[in-house]
Amino acid sequence: MTEFALVLGKGKDKAVRNRHPWIFSGAVARTPAGLEDGGLAEVRSEDGEILGHAYVNRRCSILARMVSFGAEPPLDALRRNLDGAWALRSGLVAGTSDAFRVVHGEGDGLPGLVVDKYADVCVIQVTTLGMERLKPVVLERLRGLLKPRVLYEKSSSPARREEGLADAEGALEGTLDGPVEIVENGRRFLVDIERGQKTGFFLDQREMRELVVRLSPGRRVLNAFSYTGGFSVCALAGGALRVDAVDTSEAALALARRSVRLNGLEESKAGFEAADVFGVLRRKTLDYDFIILDPPAFAKKKTDVVPACRGYKDINRLAMLRLPPGGLLLTFSCSHFVDEALFRRVLFQAAREADRTVRILQKHRMAFDHPLNVYHPESEYLKGFLLHVA
Ligand code: SAH
Repeated sequence: MTEFALVLGKGKDKAVRNRHPWIFSGAVARTPAGLEDGGLAEVRSEDGEILGHAYVNRRCSILARMVSFGAEPPLDALRRNLDGAWALRSGLVAGTSDAFRVVHGEGDGLPGLVVDKYADVCVIQVTTLGMERLKPVVLERLRGLLKPRVLYEKSSSPARREEGLADAEGALEGTLDGPVEIVENGRRFLVDIERGQKTGFFLDQREMRELVVRLSPGRRVLNAFSYTGGFSVCALAGGALRVDAVDTSEAALALARRSVRLNGLEESKAGFEAADVFGVLRRKTLDYDFIILDPPAFAKKKTDVVPACRGYKDINRLAMLRLPPGGLLLTFSCSHFVDEALFRRVLFQAAREADRTVRILQKHRMAFDHPLNVYHPESEYLKGFLLHVA
């Protein structure tokens, strides 16, 4: 048990009582004297009631993040949440895929921590000083649960700098020997953990890859912002007549080509073009009846929202213009600051400007292994729509 106490201001305990994991500096009446940043403290209400435990970093506007609620000792909660996270995935995804997100930060009651599993490689991402301090406990538990051949840290983010942490990347145990091969629903993908985006693969799109398999028979597919070709492999496996991947990253496209080959799919039906999607969509000759738009987050911060929406509107308008009647558009935004309602308004505007009749056939959020804590809507980011364009 910790001896330090963080005391909330009068009337400022509501969020914590509602099991919201973040404590902003404005809610704090007294920070724990003598506690080093990154350490654990009891969280008390103004009248002295213990509400749980949090780790503290005075240099951040989110001054503390809850590790446990009520009387549970924080390290017990940490271990219990890691076990619970593993159990959830074991039941829902492990039977059909050897790659999944094992820990999704606040969504698993583990603020500041992401853990992804790629076959026998475990990748961890730590974004806060408090979680950095708890890392030895986390690693010990992960070793026991996952028994990984390689334990790799990929902790680099602007958030770390705000926390006073330098980036940390590299193998903690074992060695990575190039891209890792994973199997998802019987399909194989190559994941470049060291050089890739995020921890290497867009695990959050697993359900959408299945949807693409189902929608692709007999279609000509444009996989825009393809990265390493997850959707290309699925489109071909599903029976697409043709699938063209477009991305600015040559390295991602090279890996996409290798993944198509690895699955024994017909390479002659697959294109890989290093180009700007905005330019490609402006080509009048575009001839696809299924377009996938999965761009990077256009709004990285709140002040980016207006230009980001302009970008989303442009690509969606162009895609709608280019699709023949009956065409399908699978479109995403992974900007946290552009919420679902706003993204829908952008799609509405795009449809108006393209002068097409557009209907929503399906909605999407992150895959099962990216749970969203109902108390913490702040960690929502991915939203997608399957649209029918008439
Ligand atoms: N759909 C992918 C993930 C996309 S991530 C998947 O399922 O795996 C976003 C990708 O967009 C990155 O690979 C990045 O290189 C690419 N990108 C960013 N801006 C681009 C642009 N203007 N034109 C083409 N590709 C772009």
